[in-house]
Amino acid sequence: MVGAWCFLDHFGPLAIGNGHGIRVGPHPHIGLQTVTWLIEGEVFHRDSLGYQQLIRPDQLNIMTAGRGIVHSEETSSEHSDRVHGLQLWVALPDTDRHTEPAFAHHSTLPRIERDGMDITLLVGKGQGEQSPARTFTPIVGYDIALTDSGTRAFELHPLYEHAVLLTDGMITIDSEIMTPSTLYYLGIGREVLNISNESPARFAIIGGVPFGEQIILWWNLVARTTEEISQARDNWEAHRYFGEVEGYDGPRLVAPALRTSLKAR
Ligand code: MN
Repeated sequence: MVGAWCFLDHFGPLAIGNGHGIRVGPHPHIGLQTVTWLIEGEVFHRDSLGYQQLIRPDQLNIMTAGRGIVHSEETSSEHSDRVHGLQLWVALPDTDRHTEPAFAHHSTLPRIERDGMDITLLVGKGQGEQSPARTFTPIVGYDIALTDSGTRAFELHPLYEHAVLLTDGMITIDSEIMTPSTLYYLGIGREVLNISNESPARFAIIGGVPFGEQIILWWNLVARTTEEISQARDNWEAHRYFGEVEGYDGPRLVAPALRTSLKAR
């Protein structure tokens, strides 16, 4: 984990033909928030609260699963040729993990342009700005496009641990070369990164106060014990407890078998 960030899916860049693309049928989540951020293309979200939301680049979808939610994600009927994005999960602290489910779409986020950087603050507080997205523990997430070459400093919260994911191009951080699609853990206590590039590049920085609770992450579920995971899985398979997603043209996802007892980490 990096702060409360507990999962990262970097999807694409992928060329999609007509009638193809992303099709993730209805599936449940508990105990986490999903943070969806697109670099290219579109994704259409539906959930058991009744939200139907198209997301495009520069917009944020944040879904709080809390005690339980179901959603589907798919390429919209009219879509761009490519899709590229990030979906991250944030573990909810024990005090809030049974909260009511919620969904929010933020079409405008704080944006800072300086030193050849185009910085978007996705969640949390940083660079003198505050994201409107609701969070439950001190975390931060940035998407940074480098529009000019050179070296510049980027200040970090010293009480947060951080990680970097390069999504396009090439950069060095404190003279270390970053390779695309590798998540670089930067540790805690860093006050500044020296970021260099020679050509346009793009990367994400995530961070937060170390989470301090052990979680179990299994399939789409975050909990504390094997019994909780098993109960949520059984509820999903029995069509109990979780709501329904309206309008998705396809089957719901089937939970994998839960064979062994799970170890918290
Ligand atoms: Mn999901």
